[in-house]
This record gives sequence, C-alpha cells and structure tokens, in this order.
Amino acid sequence: MSDQFSTDILILGTGGAGLMAALHAFWRDPVLDLTLVSKGGLAKSGCTRMVQGGYNVVLDPKDSLQAHFKDTVTGGAFLNDQDLAMTLVEDAPRIVRELENRIGCLFDRAPDGRIHQKAFAGQSFDRTVHVGDLTGIEIMSRLRDHIFAAGIRCLEYTRGLELLTSADSQRVVGAVLLDIQSGEFVVVRAKAVILCTGAGPLMYQRSACAQEKAMDGVAMAYRAGAHLMDMEMVQFHPTGMVVPGSRLNGALLEEGLRGAGAHLFNGRGERYMERYDLEKKERFTRDRVSRASYMEVIAGCGTENSNV
Ligand SMILES: Cc1cc2nc3c(=O)[nH]c(=O)nc-3n(C[C@H](O)[C@H](O)[C@H](O)COP(=O)(O)OP(=O)(O)OC[C@H]3O[C@@H](n4cnc5c(N)ncnc54)[C@H](O)[C@@H]3O)c2cc1C
Repeated sequence: MSDQFSTDILILGTGGAGLMAALHAFWRDPVLDLTLVSKGGLAKSGCTRMVQGGYNVVLDPKDSLQAHFKDTVTGGAFLNDQDLAMTLVEDAPRIVRELENRIGCLFDRAPDGRIHQKAFAGQSFDRTVHVGDLTGIEIMSRLRDHIFAAGIRCLEYTRGLELLTSADSQRVVGAVLLDIQSGEFVVVRAKAVILCTGAGPLMYQRSACAQEKAMDGVAMAYRAGAHLMDMEMVQFHPTGMVVPGSRLNGALLEEGLRGAGAHLFNGRGERYMERYDLEKKERFTRDRVSRASYMEVIAGCGTENSNV
C-alpha cells in the first residue's frame, strides 16, 4: 500500500538544520505548503538535541571575527574550505540573536546581564554560548514550539528511502518515504527538497551520535547524482564514558570539561597531553586530543580497558 501527496517544500530531517530551514521558509512565505519528515520524533531525534557544550560566536567587543576565523582554520589544520569557515563565523552572531530574540532560547547570563560565554578547546577567547550543559534541548524545544505554532506538517517516524528525479535526471522532484510504524510507503512530490539528514557513525564500535543517523540520507543524495565532498572528514570527540558492558559506554563527556580545566591521564597516571602540546595541553583541538589519546593506548600506556 502507498499513500501520496504533493507539497511545495519537502524537508528531510528535523534536527536544528531541518527545523531552521522550515521556519525560514514559513517566515518568508506563510502560504507555502511545507512538509517535515523525521526518522524519529519531532525535536527528539538527531544530534542537535544532544548538544551539551554550546555554540561558538563572537559577541564580546574584545573578541573579533578575525580571531574566530583564525581559530577555526588553524584548528582545521588549514584543510577547511575557508569561504565556508568565514560564513560560519560571520553568520554566528546573527543566528544567536535570532535564536534568542525571535525563537526564544534563553541562554545563560553573566552577572552583568550579557550572554555568558565559556571556554572551549581550540578557542583563543571564551566564546561558547550555552544553556548549562543542555544547550541542544533548549534550542530544539523552542524550535519545536514555533513549528507547532506555524502548523507545519510533520511526518514523524518516517524514513526517507529514495529521492525522485525528473525524467532527464536533472532535478529532484520528491521522495519515497517509509512510515516505520505502519510499514506503508509514502510518495511525496515536491517543488523543492531540502536534505537535513546529517551523516552517521554506525561503522564505529562506539559513538555518541544519534543512532538513527545511518548515512542513508547521504546515500540517497549520491544515488540521485549529488557530488559528495570531504567524506574522510569524520569528527572524533576525544572524551566519553568508559563503562564496559553498560549502555553508557561511549556516552559523551563534554568539551566544556576540558575548557574548564579537566586533566587527562593515561594508565600510568601521567598527564600525557603535556607531551603533545606544552601550552594548550587538554585544550588542544578535538582531533589532536583524540589522536594523542589513541597514541598513548597503542604505545601500551592505556588503562586496563585500553583507554585513557
Ligand atoms: C553528543 C553530541 C554533542 C555535541 N555537542 C556539540 C556542541 O557542543 N557544539 C556544537 O556546535 N556541535 C555539537 N555537536 C554536533 C551537532 O550536534 C551537530 O553538528 C548538529 O546538531 C547537526 O544538526 P543537523 O540538523 O544537521 O542534524 P541532526 O540534529 O542530527 O538531525 C538529523 C535529522 O535527520 C533525521 N534523519 C536521518 N536520516 C533520515 C532519513 N533517512 N529519513 C528521514 N529523517 C532522517 C534524524 O531523525 C534527525 O531528525 C554534538 C554532537 C553530539 C552527538
């Protein structure tokens, strides 16, 4: 059995990217027929809800866009697409103000009433905006309120299977979905399709990522003819829980811990980051701390569980 309908804009994925895309389309033209599709529940699936640490943004007059940009490209070992890095840095202040003033996210305050910004690894200035360590829950909850208020259609527990293309394969014209609960297919025709399904970590033994993210959105785009880039750029977060045999194994220990001064020790009790970077130590970027920890384990300096 299959159901079918048409919509103006079909948005696959309901994390921060999907919900922001839907709201911006609605604000631009409230008459548009919009459809959100999520493999999980609205505002309950994906990684955005899991964000603990926060969002790097230049707000303090003593900070600068140039410094944020420099931290970003230096942290990326100059492999970054620098135009994209600049877009990220330049857009961040506007987006934080939009999240607070238009969407209603209440970020933590400093004693003087300004938005509080905490230290994050790899940053030369304290510029991480946050809500305690529940930043993602605040952002997703407020975005969800606006999606409800706007009355945007949302198909939850529905998986995107395949993008539909025009007869000449030049345009995406919709998608085939699977209603996970009923097992029925849904065919949606759309004037535009926005993919916000993220990537996926399921090839790794442990991951802190939302487990419904399985690269199938990327695969759909590939089969429809999209060119993929930088596929080797997987982010490794250096610190997580090691609790063998527990569901907590691999759960993230957030970046702010190292920002606030936490130390890392190997199985011999040595503060090993001093050997990798005497100045930044644990505040080195995620890739460097991950690599250093891995080197300790393969050098035989790990704990009895082969960790640090
Ligand atoms: C534990 C953790 C902590 C993090 N902390 C930070 C932080 O402090 N600061 C920071 O900047 N970043 C952080 N990140 C990274 C950040 O969460 C992501 O970069 C960001 O949330 C990605 O947003 P998104 O909307 O692209 O994807 P997501 O929020 O992951 O949303 C993906 C959506 O796609 C849906 N989906 C997937 N496949 C399909 C399909 N086939 N069909 C239909 N729907 C599908 C999912 O159900 C979900 O709704 C963290 C990530 C994790 C895992």
